[in-house]
Amino acid sequence: MHGDATVVGGGLAGLVAATRLAEASADVTLYERRPEVGGRVRTETVDGFTLDRGFQVLFTSYPAVAAEVGNEGDVGDALDVRRFAPGATICRPGSRSVLSDPFRDPRAAVASLRNDEISFSDKLRTLALRHDLAKRGEDDFFAGPDASIREYLYKWGFADDYVTNFVEPFYGGITLDRSLSTSKNVFEYTFRAMSRGAIGVPAAGMRAIPEALADRARDAGVTIEAGEDVESVRTAGQGRIPFRIGRGDAEGATVELADGSTHETDAVVVAATPPEARRLTDVESIPTEGVPNVTGWYTLPAGESFETGERILLNAADDSPNAVVPMSEVAPEYAPDDRALIAATFLGETPLDRPAAGLRDDVRDALEAWYPGRDFDGLETVDTHRIPFAQFAQPPGVHAGLPEPDDPEGPVVLAGDYTEWSSIQGALESGRTAAEAAGGYL
Ligand SMILES: Cc1cc2nc3c(=O)[nH]c(=O)nc-3n(C[C@H](O)[C@H](O)[C@H](O)COP(=O)(O)OP(=O)(O)OC[C@H]3O[C@@H](n4cnc5c(N)ncnc54)[C@H](O)[C@@H]3O)c2cc1C
Repeated sequence: MHGDATVVGGGLAGLVAATRLAEASADVTLYERRPEVGGRVRTETVDGFTLDRGFQVLFTSYPAVAAEVGNEGDVGDALDVRRFAPGATICRPGSRSVLSDPFRDPRAAVASLRNDEISFSDKLRTLALRHDLAKRGEDDFFAGPDASIREYLYKWGFADDYVTNFVEPFYGGITLDRSLSTSKNVFEYTFRAMSRGAIGVPAAGMRAIPEALADRARDAGVTIEAGEDVESVRTAGQGRIPFRIGRGDAEGATVELADGSTHETDAVVVAATPPEARRLTDVESIPTEGVPNVTGWYTLPAGESFETGERILLNAADDSPNAVVPMSEVAPEYAPDDRALIAATFLGETPLDRPAAGLRDDVRDALEAWYPGRDFDGLETVDTHRIPFAQFAQPPGVHAGLPEPDDPEGPVVLAGDYTEWSSIQGALESGRTAAEAAGGYL
């Protein structure tokens, strides 16, 4: 492969596309508007605490993670992953109970069996669902008729208790949508991923993922230009040829930066955030509706254990917060030695505008209700992350209508979660596919 390729956006998708093109001998420049790469997967250090930019986790069984970050080896080792225990602790005022996967967590099997938030028949049904999804091949997901997660679970015969007490807060946390109106495709794929591997965070924070990708990109020869905002992408025929330029006829493209400078290139990979990718390419099938997330980060003196066995605490009673995560019990590196770090997630639009003190009070009240007799007055806010566009909205049917990488005119291809599904897996996989499509112009 010979020629010059330009990548717009240094999120996970852009980093993978750039690396793959450079490894195939293209000269690659990547422009990222922020001072650092990573896009939606970033981490900040505040007062010695490691705060991911919105609570998020890595699924160690995602195949694209193994391919792009794990070097096909053990992802957990490659990124020094601190794992959550499988399942979750279901919390409501006066009670906490464990629900886990008996195959992955035999020590919690008895507690799970005794959990009376969920009926015995639904526990058996969960195992049947696990078995059914385990048989499927990678290509069997995100295909065929779709439905909401709620409809899908009722079709499987699950009772209201199961859906309300467990799935709403647990998958609400994964899809950032507690109403369960998200596509069942996301449920099926992530449910299977959790029966195959762990969820966790790298000891150094989620930024370890883009940092590993950026190291690989630089090793392959990619020039990463951070702090460079791309204003427009124009193809050679744009404005003159009213129909799509076929492969081989393409005459290159011009990338214009915000400072007015231009860069001539043979092929462009647009790996910007979905609304920005739409602005740059005019491809109308790029989804622009986002789902928000608010994450509050809190601290207590070290030693305040939540006795969760490294599980996430789900709020079965209401959604403020949706879940509380004992971060430093799972990843001690996330907090200084004398402090504990806790994350709490809030879903929907309302928390975006709620003052930090109100969010913290909700977390304190929830903890005091779940741990009768304990007082959490010492709960202090470290920071509050308000993220209006965390994932693109994924209602049923959305995946069938997503753009193809080569939908734009001329030698321009799309990369980003919005060509697959909104996740780390989707973003990484899209980068690989986009590099193949862009290679056709080099
Ligand atoms: C709070 C939160 C929680 C999440 N939880 C999970 C989770 O637990 N598991 C999971 O798998 N996924 C999760 N996700 C989703 C996942 O992080 C994203 O799907 C994925 O990171 C998207 O990567 P991307 O490369 O497609 O896009 P992005 O990360 O959006 O990258 C696009 C990049 O393009 C840059 N850019 C935009 N416009 C321009 C321009 N004009 N010029 C130059 N650069 C530009 C942006 O700055 C950005 O760096 C979560 C996301 C958030 C925010």
